[in-house]
Order: sequence, then structure tokens, then C-alpha cells
Amino acid sequence: MRLVVVGGSLAGHRAALEARRRDEELEIIVVGDEPDPPYQRPPLSKGFLAGTVRRERLALRSSPGAYDLRLDTRAEHLDLSERVVHTNRGVVAFDLLVIATGASPLRPTSLAHPHVLTLRTLSDAVALRARLEPYTRLVTVGAGFIGLEVAATARERGASVHIVEADRRLLPRALGAGASAAIARWHEQHGVSLTVGATVAEVTDDGALLDTGSLLAADSVLVATGVRPNIGWLDHCLPTDPRLGVLADEYGRVGEGVVAAGDVTTWRHPGWDKPVRSEHFETAATQGVLAARTLLGSPTPWRDVPFGWSDQHGHLVQILGLPGPDAEEEQRSPTTYAYYRGERLEGFVLLDGADELVDRREELEVALGLR
Ligand SMILES: Cc1cc2nc3c(=O)[nH]c(=O)nc-3n(C[C@H](O)[C@H](O)[C@H](O)COP(=O)(O)OP(=O)(O)OC[C@H]3O[C@@H](n4cnc5c(N)ncnc54)[C@H](O)[C@@H]3O)c2cc1C
Repeated sequence: MRLVVVGGSLAGHRAALEARRRDEELEIIVVGDEPDPPYQRPPLSKGFLAGTVRRERLALRSSPGAYDLRLDTRAEHLDLSERVVHTNRGVVAFDLLVIATGASPLRPTSLAHPHVLTLRTLSDAVALRARLEPYTRLVTVGAGFIGLEVAATARERGASVHIVEADRRLLPRALGAGASAAIARWHEQHGVSLTVGATVAEVTDDGALLDTGSLLAADSVLVATGVRPNIGWLDHCLPTDPRLGVLADEYGRVGEGVVAAGDVTTWRHPGWDKPVRSEHFETAATQGVLAARTLLGSPTPWRDVPFGWSDQHGHLVQILGLPGPDAEEEQRSPTTYAYYRGERLEGFVLLDGADELVDRREELEVALGLR
């Protein structure tokens, strides 16, 4: 019996390790298109970019020989009827399949220029780090978590930084206006310039030209306007959506002997009556484990409250549940923002409120009917 995992990063790695833990005999092949063995992405916008976390420290913990890892191998087509994956290095047959190909940054063609960078992989981070010097003028396009973290780290390295966001506030898709304003203050206090309600129309040798007509002088422009799931290789033979990726049930199932995990997918969740997308480290790790269990006959639903975190200017942001801009925000304390849809509590954002995490998670589990 052979399990093939496509995507050699967090979700795929965790799925492969869990499968090995449950079955010593199973043949496990992990196919990944990157040149590096599985590593953690969160430090790429923080400690690694700042130069305080060394490359060796990024590796995800593993057990030697747990699976056959095929690097530099890109899945190009899935043939579900023949149960094979076509890759740039040949055909790989499977009995069981984990789809864990993650997501890639949006790269608007209108912004193509040698000064433009994105950040997803280790090599992206190496390229960005090489440009961050005290004299660098960086523009980040998009005030999501990646853009804000890079802005904070670039300031730490002495660069001058200007954030441009199309919406009227920072983190417009992730949380509410009060928490967003508090985070904006951190950036302003650390000398980051903010322009909201404007877009970058073009990048030139001189910098970023805004749709308002003004030019922000820049040597480097980071485009961080969101990601899209890597589903092109699936050839539409499974249920997918361009934004949500592979549509899975709360066990990660998408077909007979086929599961998906991590940023490439959106799972059902018993706490909500809609698919729940959560592009966070903990979600990818958990779903990897659960997906393997589903394939190997011990299905366990995803019941964890979605959780993510971010570090900016030495402050910690923690997100529980689904805060989102469509929810009503209530500030409960200087550190705690609660989010309601109708009467129902659906999320929290904690700003330097780590002490609250356990209690707020429990409160949310009760509100969502998960305990
Ligand atoms: C810079 C950065 C900072 C982050 N910081 C945080 C944080 O502070 N907190 C937090 O909660 N989350 C954070 N995240 C999010 C978190 O890292 C992701 O949710 C997580 O990496 C998702 O894991 P994944 O395995 O699903 O996908 P990915 O990590 O995207 O891995 C997918 C892998 O599949 C490969 N692949 C894609 N297509 C193919 C193909 N056709 N064939 C073969 N291989 C393929 C990709 O190259 C990649 O190696 C951060 C992400 C980034 C990029």
C-alpha cells in the first residue's frame, strides 16, 4: 500500500509523520517542488528576516527515514481514474493521496518590475533579506499579516518603510476596526509610514506610483496582497474554488482515499455552517495529522478553534475563531477584542494578551457548541 503526499511542507510533513506513526509498513512518498526539506515559514518574515534566527533553526522536527522525500519534484497533473500523479520527474502511482500544496502569493502582472518581491519561501526570504539595509526604502503593498510583519522587521533592520493598503485600514480582511487601529499605532510609533485607501498602479525604477498620482520613492517593493491555493495541478478533477482551494469535509476528505490539508484547502468545521478557511500554522499542522488519520481508518473531525498569531514591533497578536470584518467588534479590555455575528460569539483578537488565551479559547468553544 502506497501513500503519496503532494506538498513537502508543514501540512504534508505532519501528514506523513502521522501516517508513519500509525502504520510501520506503509510506503510513504512525499513529493515537493522546493529544493529544501520541510521548514517553518513564520520566521521568514520575523527572526530569519531580521537575521536573529539561523537557517538551520527553521527545519521542522522530523524522524530520519520516516518517509521518502522527493525534492525539486513538481506535481503537474492528477489522474484520479488511474490513481497517478504526473510530475516533472515522472509518474507516481498512489493508493492513498494527501493534497498539501499550500498557497502562493498573488503577483499582479501590472506590478512586474525587478524591484518587486513576494514572500512565501526560504529563497524569497533570502532575496528580501539581502535587500534590507539601513539605507533601503521599502514599500509594502498590502497591510495583511505578511506585509505588516515585514514592515516591522525591515524597520528593525533600519530600513525606511511605507505601507500602502487599498482598504481604509490595516488588516481589513482579518479583524475589526478597533484592533486594526491599535496595530496601526504600533507601526506609527516605530516610524512606519501608512497610506490607506490607495493602490499602487505601477512600479518604476524610482519607486511605487500610486493611483492618486503620487510617487513613493523605493528601492524594493514587497507585494503582499494575499495568496491563492495551489490547485492548478488538480485539473479540476476534485471540488475546488479559486479562493477556498480544495473543498473538504471536517475530516479532510475530498474523494475516495483522497484528503487535503493546510493552506490548499478549506474544511468544514462543526462550529460553523459554512466552510472555514484558516491560513495559519496551527491549522495546517493539525489538518495534516487529521488527514492522515482519516486515510488510515481513524477519522477524527477538525474541532479546534482556528488559531493564528503574528509578531510586529515586539507585540503579539493572537487570533481565535473567525473575527473578520463582517463581525461586530466589542473591546472588552485594553488587550481583548470580541467578535459577534448576531448574538453569537465567533472570535477574539488578543493584543499582547497571551495570559487570556486559554480562558478565551474555552469561552469560544462553549459559544460555538464545541464543548
Ligand atoms: C512569511 C510567512 C510567515 C507566516 N507567519 C505565520 C505566523 O506567524 N503565524 C501563523 O499562524 N501562520 C503564519 N504563516 C502561515 C503558515 O506558515 C502557513 O499557514 C503554513 O505554512 C501552511 O502550510 P502548508 O503545508 O499547508 O502550505 P505551504 O507551507 O505553502 O507548503 C506547500 C508546499 O507545497 C509545495 N507545492 C506547491 N505546489 C506544488 C506542486 N504542484 N507539486 C509539488 N509541490 C508543490 C510548495 O512549494 C510548498 O513547499 C506564515 C506564512 C508565511 C509565508
